[in-house]
Amino acid sequence: MHKKLFIPGPVEVRPEVLMRMATPMIGHRSKAASELQHGISDKLKTLFGTREAILLSTSSGSGLMEGAVRSCTAQRAACFAVGAFGVRWYDMAVGNGVPADLFEVPWGEPNTAQQLEAALASGKYDLITITHNETSTGLMNPLGELSAVWKRYPEVVVCADTVSSMGGTPIPVDEWGIDICVTSTQKALGLPPGLAICSFSQKAVERAKTVKQRGYYLDLLALYDYIQKKDYQYPSTPSLSHMFALDYQLDLILAEGLKERYARHRAMAELVRAWAAKHFALFADPACLSDTLTTITNTRDIDVAALNKALGERGWQISNGYGKLKDKTFRIAHMADAAVDEIKALLADIDDILSL
Ligand SMILES: *Cc1c(COP(=O)(O)O)cnc(C)c1O
Repeated sequence: MHKKLFIPGPVEVRPEVLMRMATPMIGHRSKAASELQHGISDKLKTLFGTREAILLSTSSGSGLMEGAVRSCTAQRAACFAVGAFGVRWYDMAVGNGVPADLFEVPWGEPNTAQQLEAALASGKYDLITITHNETSTGLMNPLGELSAVWKRYPEVVVCADTVSSMGGTPIPVDEWGIDICVTSTQKALGLPPGLAICSFSQKAVERAKTVKQRGYYLDLLALYDYIQKKDYQYPSTPSLSHMFALDYQLDLILAEGLKERYARHRAMAELVRAWAAKHFALFADPACLSDTLTTITNTRDIDVAALNKALGERGWQISNGYGKLKDKTFRIAHMADAAVDEIKALLADIDDILSL
């Protein structure tokens, strides 16, 4: 039996979207390929709220995260972390020989304006990385508020990880002054894994021109230059199958309506939060809860693997904790095309299994 996925990626994909992956191939240097990629880019600009360029990469989100910090740090990167994925971005900088410092907060808490201000006022940094939705802790960092700080430092290139939130909650990229906004297909966008997406501002373009060693496959300036010159085509052969599915899924997302889509995510989140608060406890700061997944502290010390096995027999799958929270928490994702009624049915089945 297929288990419906309520894990924070990969998520359940609509059958009609999956079918688009089976579209017969076209040449990646054809006019049809240019049109396909041009159309995707236009739709993504609407979703991202940006007038800047959109880059697609046949990699997962980590690919463009690595490409961003390497391609656009000329001086030193400040990596702000609120959990495991924020630390990963710092590790990528270090692994690429990019000078960087890590700024952490206790897990479950957001980054603060004071923390950002103190780092940027030092004048040491020309790029920051920051997580919007931390999938380990279930926290949504208040980037809208924090953007007031980085907007006072126009020389700083701002990179945001929206891998588990873009498509599930409003992220007005230009309004928040984000230069490189990275996401993946397999989370709130509701597609199979395999493609990464980012916005790439003119400021980021100019910065990258000053960086000598940008790598090759994930050199964001090379991707940008190529799509300008070659009518939205990419330097190497992209996963056209993903492009067909993404193009179609973006139509469905825009047809649902972005407001409606975000409201559905909020409604699912509120159900899971209320359930979690009643029977367990919420891990993250209640003022910064994620709309796309909930991390639940396992206050009853339930056997999560056994629960998941029992849920599997009923056609569901949820997730254990991530990283150092593996045994202390478990996670329920409520993103992409999941429905409010499915969340209700899932929670009712958990109640039944655990006799809550
Ligand atoms: C899943 C995830 C990543 C990693 O993305 P991949 O597409 O698996 O490379 C990075 N950041 C966050 C917040 C995530 O949830």
